Amino acid sequence: MSAASASGRSVTVRAPAKLNLELTVGPRRPDGYHDLATVFHAVGLHDEVTVEPADDWEVVVTGPYAELVPCGADNLAMRAAHLIAEQATSSGPARITIDKEIPVAGGMAGGSADGAATLLACDLLWEVGLSRGELEELAADLGSDVPFALAGGTAIGSGRGEQLVPVLAPGRYEWVLALSEGGLPTPEVYAECDRLRAGRRVPDPEPSEDLMSALRAGDPRALGAALTNDLQDAAFSLRPELRGLLEVGLDFGALGGIVSGSGPTIAFLTADVEGALDLSVALAASGAAPEVKRATGPAHGVHVVRSPSLRSL
Ligand code: ATP
Repeated sequence: MSAASASGRSVTVRAPAKLNLELTVGPRRPDGYHDLATVFHAVGLHDEVTVEPADDWEVVVTGPYAELVPCGADNLAMRAAHLIAEQATSSGPARITIDKEIPVAGGMAGGSADGAATLLACDLLWEVGLSRGELEELAADLGSDVPFALAGGTAIGSGRGEQLVPVLAPGRYEWVLALSEGGLPTPEVYAECDRLRAGRRVPDPEPSEDLMSALRAGDPRALGAALTNDLQDAAFSLRPELRGLLEVGLDFGALGGIVSGSGPTIAFLTADVEGALDLSVALAASGAAPEVKRATGPAHGVHVVRSPSLRSL
């Protein structure tokens, strides 16, 4: 344990992965982004970020995906720490340790989760005292998916995904996540989506009524049937084997399946914990997916695990 953590001057915050239960992609905007109508859903697969004073700025990543994560200035956690340092009267270099459980470049917004966790952790470490609204603004500056990692739960996202409205969704859902080797870079998937839709009129995106009523009813069967993702065809075009993986999970009895965000993770919805256990065993035994995980949603947004002054959003 470092001197800083031993003296209690370290803060640890957890942040959840997300799925998109629906991702409707509008036309490409002049600034290169796309307007979205999406329904974010946080699931119980977490990264844990610890910040503590250090002699130099440093990002250390641990866990099974550590070697896939950049540790320099482009790490979203490092960028988040600098954003908070700009607001602090007294800050200083920090070591940021990310215990990474969320697959990298898997369409589950792990980098955004780390950014959101670091915003809150540094705010506490340096006793900046930002309001929730101020943290949300910094989160939106950091990236489109970062505000949702702060919020958690289930929420409709519009704009680039950063404008959120919480959804009252009473159910709990059991997911099986089929991970793939190698990530899919989000910009490439959007570019492929634009290529596949070239020449077609693309309507402005709107959330679907079927999905909303499934969520209001807390009905996993209706939810399974209502999952949609406009980036799915693009992900299949770039990684054709994903189509087969989706079919295998559905054949094994999933209520529905969807490419998560820009992929390549595929999320399967099951009826209950037993169904999730059965499906994860069947998928792992079939060899169709190199790695299979289970997660329950909705999960809370960022929350403090350890801090000299405990605080949650
Ligand atoms: P997106 O949020 O763009 O949909 P994703 O969920 O598919 O992305 P992430 O794991 O968030 O994937 O990472 C996308 C890329 O961001 C990685 O390939 C990596 O180069 C970079 N990155 C920057 N900071 C981090 C971080 N803290 N954790 C993971 N990746 C990071």
